[in-house]
Amino acid sequence: MISGDAKVAMRARAVRKSFGALEVLSGIDLDVREGEVVCILGPSGSGKSTFLRCINHLEKVDGGTIHVDGHLIGYEDRDGVLHELHAKALARQRSEIGMVFQRFNLFAHLSARDNIVQPQRLVRGAEPAAARARAQELLEMVGLGDRGDAYPSQLSGGQQQRVAIARALAMRPKLMLFDEPTSALDPELVGEVLTVIRKLAEEGMTMIIVTHEVGFARDVADRVVFMDGGVVVEEGSASDLITNPQQDRTRVFLRRML
Ligand code: ADP
Ligand code: MG
Repeated sequence: MISGDAKVAMRARAVRKSFGALEVLSGIDLDVREGEVVCILGPSGSGKSTFLRCINHLEKVDGGTIHVDGHLIGYEDRDGVLHELHAKALARQRSEIGMVFQRFNLFAHLSARDNIVQPQRLVRGAEPAAARARAQELLEMVGLGDRGDAYPSQLSGGQQQRVAIARALAMRPKLMLFDEPTSALDPELVGEVLTVIRKLAEEGMTMIIVTHEVGFARDVADRVVFMDGGVVVEEGSASDLITNPQQDRTRVFLRRML
């Protein structure tokens, strides 16, 4: 939940992105405040994943700017000219932004615990004992305190996704991005992942969540954004946008989803 004077955690202005001749993002404006949970809904191909990938500069924008925690993402502004940051500076920026994908992307050759320990060691230079303690704390938080020694192949999809969330949290990110975190899961495993995300929301984590789970969005989001054709078509409080959409495109989409 957010207070009225919360700072802006993420600000996107006029973000444009094309792949060849295909314009995928046609000027995205979005502000997310600290502690806010924003869910992004929209049809397949509307640019949701591309937008999330731009927020941590996994994709380069063709126009516009993105700031996270007041820092311009991907570029340095030298006298009004933007220069792309070097790999090291990009890695540092990315480490402040946690990302969880549809596919769990764990390292198959590492235990659940070591999947969480390793980035703390490599990116933050954490001491082994401290990194292990933090990993255990996070495994407990996601309900897997007794599964630290298991390898990804020994875990269900829902358990792997919870480890992936714990791994992202280990870096103490300022912002968490989720790209359809439950859409690769068997239906009976969706709830356990959503429960963890809900808990993070209660703890005040700033999150941008792309999801097809309209009911979940209504429950957990402070604000819902509907994207279509590379633009934000409409945004509003979860209850307003989902129960009382103003735009035809939003209505058509929601009718199909519900
Ligand atoms: P969504 O996540 O809303 O389904 P995406 O952001 O994945 O949408 O994709 C938007 C459009 O961009 C789609 O038409 C997709 O095919 C295209 N696209 C995404 N990534 C690439 C890429 N790396 N190269 C070419 N086209 C891409
Ligand atoms: Mg996508």
